[in-house]
Amino acid sequence: MKDSPSPHRFVASHLLQVPRSGIRDFFEIVATRDDVLSLGIGEPDFVTPWQIRDAAIYALDHGATSYTPNRGQRVCRRAIAGYLESSFGLAYDPDQEILVTVGVSEALDLAVRAVVEPGDEVLYHEPGYVSYGPLVAFAHGVPVPVATEAAENFVLRRSQLDAVVSDRTKALILNFPTNPTGGVLEHSTAEEIAAFAIEHDLIVITDEIYSELTYEGERITIAALPGMRERTIFLHGQSKAWAMTGFRSGYACGPAELVEAMMKIHQYSMLCAPILSQAAVVEALKRSSSHVEHMRSEYEKRRNLMLAAFKDMGLACTTPRGAFYAFPSIARTGLSSIEFATRLVEEEAVAVVPGTAFGASGEGHVRCSFAANLEHIKEAMERMARFVQRH
Ligand code: PMP
Repeated sequence: MKDSPSPHRFVASHLLQVPRSGIRDFFEIVATRDDVLSLGIGEPDFVTPWQIRDAAIYALDHGATSYTPNRGQRVCRRAIAGYLESSFGLAYDPDQEILVTVGVSEALDLAVRAVVEPGDEVLYHEPGYVSYGPLVAFAHGVPVPVATEAAENFVLRRSQLDAVVSDRTKALILNFPTNPTGGVLEHSTAEEIAAFAIEHDLIVITDEIYSELTYEGERITIAALPGMRERTIFLHGQSKAWAMTGFRSGYACGPAELVEAMMKIHQYSMLCAPILSQAAVVEALKRSSSHVEHMRSEYEKRRNLMLAAFKDMGLACTTPRGAFYAFPSIARTGLSSIEFATRLVEEEAVAVVPGTAFGASGEGHVRCSFAANLEHIKEAMERMARFVQRH
């Protein structure tokens, strides 16, 4: 009997052009071994604070098992509005300008799909979070990574944006504090970027998921700059700073027309965020700041330990001022970032993520997460020092 043609032919061609996540490939190799100390995962090692877990348990116990309004429960949207007002000085109307989503992941997807038309170009700084390019491609847009320079601590410059903007550019995605470099937004940079966005009439999608995990400097958001509110979609969620990755909780805020456009996709594709997560979010945003501060200060200690270890190894590393990743240069070893990460797992059983997983400009670097316990980090640093000495 003749073989039937492969089901591969049914897969949409624009999807085939998007490569699999480099992180996923690498960690499938790591998962085949059980002796590996991992600094690879972008996830807090803390469990969600008890008080937040309790709120979800209470809600479940009291029969919260239904759908919610598409936008999210009003009490949840009001908690988000209150939190944004007090923490960022941002005023969003909970009835029209806030949408509760399934993590920042869904919020990002909605924001991109709500504004991108086929052929529209979307800029994002690189090295950057792995999802931005693929999400733009899934929306039939054209991802345009803007490479930043290691020698300049990966700061995003207006000149780099000017070099790639075209009359097809529609949007700019920002992520501060940045995964994987730990860069934060300086006031002067924010002003330059805002002026650029206004000049080219761009919509800015800002992913501020690491905002509370800022160790130095002022916490600022581009959404608060003059002239930016009406052209900004602000995305945030509880996965990182509240250690709530499993709750899949996030939200998108912006002008009512844009939130309504995102709502249209959300109501047909997702319906609503889980009701138990929404109960947990209310507790997280209203009464959990001391837990967040405790975790932030623990990450800061771990960061400092990791930075000291890199210094002893002779690896140059920009101080991550936010998020929970260090992005040291491994140039002195002469290895590529993928060779370094692969051999480090093979020889010393430590997993880090090759910098190229975050775009070509991540070459010569690896990402090491300090969202792991101190003893684990100490041991991983000792092993890494042995490895660097040998290479
Ligand atoms: N944005 C960035 C920059 C991230 O690092 C992550 C998670 N790694 C996400 C978004 C997705 O987060 P969530 O769990 O809210 O979907």
